[in-house]
Amino acid sequence: MVNRCEFRQCPNRVAVIIGHCKACQGKWCLNHRLPESHLCTHMETIRQESFDRNMNKLMEEKTCNKKV
Ligand SMILES: [Zn+2]
Ligand SMILES: [Zn+2]
Repeated sequence: MVNRCEFRQCPNRVAVIIGHCKACQGKWCLNHRLPESHLCTHMETIRQESFDRNMNKLMEEKTCNKKV
């Protein structure tokens, strides 16, 4: 059985391991493996996560600069 990419009528095969999206649990080909490419339903979650990470980084930098 061939795993087909879940993106609409994409005829490509699912990319092993890297084609598995952790966010939406979907299986995608090389062309659609990125969340942007398969219009990931969990894009907001991903964006929120990286936003939080950036915020933490900014906070850390701020604390570092407070050495004066
Ligand atoms: Zn595809
Ligand atoms: Zn996804």
